[in-house]
Amino acid sequence: MEVLLLGTGAADGIPNVFCACPTCTDHRDRGELRTPTSVLIDNRLLIDPGPEAPRQVSRLGRDLIGCTTMLVSHAHSDHLDPAVLLHRSWVTQTPLQVVGPAAAIEWSANWLDPAQTSVTFTTLTAGQMVEIDGYLIEALAANHHAYTGALCYHLGDGTSSLLYLTDTGLLPPATLKAVTGRQVDLVLLEDTFGTASDKGDQHLNLVAFATTVAQLREVGAIGANSRVVPVHLGHDNPPLAELRQAMADIGAEVLSDGAELRLP
Ligand SMILES: [Zn+2]
Ligand SMILES: [Zn+2]
Repeated sequence: MEVLLLGTGAADGIPNVFCACPTCTDHRDRGELRTPTSVLIDNRLLIDPGPEAPRQVSRLGRDLIGCTTMLVSHAHSDHLDPAVLLHRSWVTQTPLQVVGPAAAIEWSANWLDPAQTSVTFTTLTAGQMVEIDGYLIEALAANHHAYTGALCYHLGDGTSSLLYLTDTGLLPPATLKAVTGRQVDLVLLEDTFGTASDKGDQHLNLVAFATTVAQLREVGAIGANSRVVPVHLGHDNPPLAELRQAMADIGAEVLSDGAELRLP
């Protein structure tokens, strides 16, 4: 399985264009952009088609011509910009599945002519499992308010597997239970709030990130060979050098937009 990180940032990305904090300045000085979190699997499964995902695909020299599935975590604007479906409809009528929680599906469907038949919509709720284009996708409960709900995902192709855990605060017990004993190759785990501790429980900060990694280790979802990568990074995180150290202490590695991972 190839996992291409199209975006690793929170909704406003880093730098936040209005901000002069050390982290935004650090990113500006180094010329690094973190765009909203989105992932492309094997060039054909796009997780979280947010506002910058299509352009990131182009910037990275890829395309979505072979994209068969769009998997949406929730209907917040950094994770879903349904205009992508309209833009797609102008050039192709090849089959596409759009999968996600009810509000995301409803919002997406509103952007297409109801008479079109190429896009199939599938609504998921936590605990449901679907097999799509060779991937077994399991919807997991997230700790995040978003209209009809937000979902995290366990995704596998029979050989490799990953957990996509954004947006969420500390994982609900049902999610920890669902992943118990199921060691994955990769965990993409959000760390929106970094060193901030006063922004609520709908996202993780560094302390809650460490707690979640420890919990996932304890239930066996993270093992010796699992890679842990923070995503949905917001500017409350420290500048890169410091963040790298903090993540290394937790057993996680900081990657940039455009990073390609090959799972065994
Ligand atoms: Zn988000
Ligand atoms: Zn900032």
